[in-house]
Amino acid sequence: MSLVAGVDIGGTNIECALVDDDHDVGDRAKTRTPTEGPAAVIDAVVDLIGGLDEAPSAVGVGIPGPVNDGVVSRPPNLALWPEEVELAARLRDAVGVPVEVGNDANVGALGEWVAGAGRGSRFMLGVWMGTGVGGGLVLDGRPYTGAFGGAGEFGHMIVHHGGAQCGCGRRGCIEAYAGRAAMERTAEMSHRSGRATSLFEIRDDEGKQRLTSKVWARALDDGDGLATQLYREAIEAVAVGVGSVINLLDLDRVVIGGGLAEKLGDQLADDIAEAAAPWTMVPSDDHAHLVAERGADPGIIGAAALGRAAMLLS
Ligand SMILES: [Zn+2]
Repeated sequence: MSLVAGVDIGGTNIECALVDDDHDVGDRAKTRTPTEGPAAVIDAVVDLIGGLDEAPSAVGVGIPGPVNDGVVSRPPNLALWPEEVELAARLRDAVGVPVEVGNDANVGALGEWVAGAGRGSRFMLGVWMGTGVGGGLVLDGRPYTGAFGGAGEFGHMIVHHGGAQCGCGRRGCIEAYAGRAAMERTAEMSHRSGRATSLFEIRDDEGKQRLTSKVWARALDDGDGLATQLYREAIEAVAVGVGSVINLLDLDRVVIGGGLAEKLGDQLADDIAEAAAPWTMVPSDDHAHLVAERGADPGIIGAAALGRAAMLLS
């Protein structure tokens, strides 16, 4: 039995855990993500790993940004990050075991593929519905990251030419309709222009600053009109994307994860499957749509799987 550390670097927190050969998660640790740039982030990761029950045989890392061969370029949610940082090499020097780094959405898809709702799939798309919308692919039984590590940017597929403004600077991206940040902006604008909604009362009642997945789930449960409308628009945007990816790649599995998936469960995957069918050339139950199974952990598990692969290749 070898233990590998899976590390999930997010814009807010860094999480780290030991993962065994069966993809079971053991001892874990967490810290706030430093805002002083890559050196501080690397130090924080090294400290987390050093504090685990046992020293890992390898380390895998998921990070929210483009990753090509261990080099991370300008992650949008990490402060003071220069053009390119050789994260895998610098961490390897610091911890002395094999290290592999991947994009967090790709790594999450890998986690669901090796140990969750994607098990047994050969052609899988993972979709992460969170603050933004991420994606990851497994093609012909292998994780697929593209020629330059940039594959899987499902959230920035254009579903409305000239449509809503996206955080990436373009218009009409899936994320501009289905990312929680975009949904909140739209809800605020509608509310300010006089549209009735319980979303913001529920937010205050939950003691939250933002419209979290839990807030959306409660408003949908109450039958709130605005929440339901924005949810349907989000589902439609994701479904157009999913249908298009199925048409292009002939997938056997679509796994839907992220905060909303955790709160809504199978209903979310079913809603997307139903909405995607009209956009799919050959609609079929063989394109199974499932909700992610590993809760908040696919990033950790997928990162550990990357680290394990690096260990076996080293
Ligand atoms: Zn975009």
